Amino acid sequence: MSPDRNRLHLALQKSGRLSEQSRQLLKDAGLKLVDGGKNALSGRAENFPLDLMLVRDDDIPTFVADGVCELGIVGQNVLEEYALGQPERRFEQVARLGFGRCSLKIAAPDSIGRFDLAMLEGQRIATSYPQLTARFLAERGIAAEVVTMRGAVELAPRLGIAGFVCDLVSTGATLDANGLTAVADVFESEAVLVQTRRPIDRAHAEKVEALLARINGVIATAESKYIVLNAPEAALPAIIRILPGAEAPTVVPLIGRQGHVAVQAVCQESVFWETLERLKAEGASAILVMPIEKMML
Ligand code: ATP
Ligand code: ZN
Repeated sequence: MSPDRNRLHLALQKSGRLSEQSRQLLKDAGLKLVDGGKNALSGRAENFPLDLMLVRDDDIPTFVADGVCELGIVGQNVLEEYALGQPERRFEQVARLGFGRCSLKIAAPDSIGRFDLAMLEGQRIATSYPQLTARFLAERGIAAEVVTMRGAVELAPRLGIAGFVCDLVSTGATLDANGLTAVADVFESEAVLVQTRRPIDRAHAEKVEALLARINGVIATAESKYIVLNAPEAALPAIIRILPGAEAPTVVPLIGRQGHVAVQAVCQESVFWETLERLKAEGASAILVMPIEKMML
C-alpha cells in the first residue's frame, strides 16, 4: 500500500525506551491513536490526518531525511550519529521533548584510578556511536582507535576487545553492574521531534504546523502553572520579579481594598514552596497555584 499523500507521516520507535512516551505525547496532543496490535508496522490517528510508521529507532533519521516521513521522534544521540555520517543535514530538530534523557559517556574499568584524558591516547574504545566518539576524540586531539559494536558494549573490556567503552548512561546501573566507571561526558541527549528538509506542499506544511502547535502546547503545559494572588500595589515590581517565567501578568483592582490588586500570571517554570514564601514576604496573600490543562502559545 503506498502512503496516502493527504496525510502526514510520523516515524516513531516501535518498541523500546522511547515508544511509550512518544505515544503518550501524541495522545496528550489530543490524537486518538489506532494500530493493528503488537506486531503492526504502522498506525494512524483517527481524528487527525496523521499516519504512524513504527520502526527501529536507528531507521528514523533516514526515514525523515529521505522525506518518507515528514516527521519523526528520536533520540538526539541517534540523530547526531546519523548526521555526522552524511554529507549534509537533511532534517531539522523542531522540538525538544523532555523525555528519553541520557548521556553518552566514556567509561573505564573501576580499577583505573585517577583518570586523565591523555590516558585515552593510543587506546581502543568500544562503542555503538563511532561518529560521536570520533568527533569527541578529534576535537581534543586524541588519537585512539574506535571499535564499533552493535550491542553489549559494556562487555568489551572484560573480553579484552577494548580498554574503554563509550556508551549511553542514564542511571549508571549498567556500568556499575559491569565494573565500569564513567570518566568523560561525550554527548547529552533527549528525545526530539524532527522534520524533513525535503520540500513539502502547502497542505502538508499546514498540518505540520497544527501538530507542532499542539505538541509545543503539551510541552509548555507540563511545567506551567497559573498563579493568582492579592498584593499591595506598591509591592508589584518586587512580586513580578519573583514570579518564575511570567511575562506579562494581568493586574486588576480589588473592589473595596484601596491600594490592593489581584495579580494573575502564567508561570512557565516550576513554582516551588520557596517561591510562595518569598511572594508572601513581599506582602502577597491568598496565593493560588493551579495546573494548566491545555495551552496554545
Ligand atoms: P531499537 O530496537 O528501536 O533499535 P534500541 O535498543 O536501539 O531499540 P532503546 O534501548 O530502546 O534502543 O533506546 C532508545 C533510545 O532511548 C536511545 O537511543 C536513547 O536516546 C534513549 N535512552 C534513554 N536512556 C537510555 C539508556 N539508559 N540507555 C540507552 N538508551 C537510552
Ligand atoms: Zn536502535
